[in-house]
Amino acid sequence: MRVNIKNLIDDAQCYETVRKLRWLNGTHCPFCDSELVIKRGHDDNELFRQRYECKACNSRFDDLTDTIFSGHHQPLKVWILCLYFMGLNLSNAQIAAELDLNQSDVQNMTILLREGIVKKNQK
Ligand SMILES: [Zn+2]
Repeated sequence: MRVNIKNLIDDAQCYETVRKLRWLNGTHCPFCDSELVIKRGHDDNELFRQRYECKACNSRFDDLTDTIFSGHHQPLKVWILCLYFMGLNLSNAQIAAELDLNQSDVQNMTILLREGIVKKNQK
């Protein structure tokens, strides 16, 4: 029997990891950079995806707003594992094998991850 690492980590940990990566000093509004942010429940489909409301500009956003993870079809878990394997210096081919992905998909993901998880020049 082969142990699949995708079964060993849970979504709650993945979202927690994203929050730590993007908001080292506490949650900030991605639109106006204010810290006056309150929690606003969770995503309807992703139970652990925290939603927020900015009291400064009234924008609503969530853990993945303005990150490379939103708008991509891979689950967050796969991205976080990809990041983990990159930290272990695995090759794209090895990562692809571990995650059951095409090597070209992994190549695109590692390029994005190296540039940082928060998208630049959004405004
Ligand atoms: Zn704001």
